[in-house]
Amino acid sequence: MKFEDLQLAPAIVKAVQEQGYETPTPIQAQAIPLILAGHDLLGGAQTGTGKTAAFTLPMLDILSRGERKKNKFGGTAIRGLVLTPTRELAAQVEESVRTYGKYLDLSSAVVFGGVGMNPQINAMKRGVDILVATPGRLLDLQQQGFLDLSGVQMLVLDEADRMLDMGFIHDVKKVLALVPRDKQSLLFSATFSDEIRELANGLLKNPQSVQV
Ligand code: AMP
Repeated sequence: MKFEDLQLAPAIVKAVQEQGYETPTPIQAQAIPLILAGHDLLGGAQTGTGKTAAFTLPMLDILSRGERKKNKFGGTAIRGLVLTPTRELAAQVEESVRTYGKYLDLSSAVVFGGVGMNPQINAMKRGVDILVATPGRLLDLQQQGFLDLSGVQMLVLDEADRMLDMGFIHDVKKVLALVPRDKQSLLFSATFSDEIRELANGLLKNPQSVQV
């Protein structure tokens, strides 16, 4: 299996090859075709398996084929939302979005707590196609009226087990209530407790499962 066989846009394959990746990892080879086909996905994968590219590459492909929309402030509506448990992971995921999307016309931003809100508020007003966020700061921005999630069509919960371990279940559920019901959802987790399964059952519609 090669990246060229995955039906991703040539601009994405080029960016991936520039990273020196020769072949898709198992999670990428299994998950990317399912996501491109529009399925919701339950992914069992640890860090280090290439799971970030497994959801980032098809998200970039799908959103680059779609149309940009306007948010309620007149800026770019968020169409792709990735939730992560920590700011380090959020920053890494957004860096991957930038790296793999460098030849596409898609914008991205990252928001997390512990830093000033003003730059994030301005970024949310201008809007981005893809937002990577930790749940708490995302809700702060929403509660202050600076966030419009009504255009989200792809949602990713990354490291869902860590998100629950860190006590973010209520925040995650609040965010889920702010995004449209009709969307494609992907949930990645290294472990599957009853609580994760319940979260997945509430979010995912006829999901395909991939486990590496
Ligand atoms: P992740 O599991 O997403 O944290 O990725 C782990 C590491 O693997 C990252 O440093 C990626 O840059 C790298 N990586 C992801 N996909 C591939 C691939 N297909 N071939 C080689 N390295 C990769």
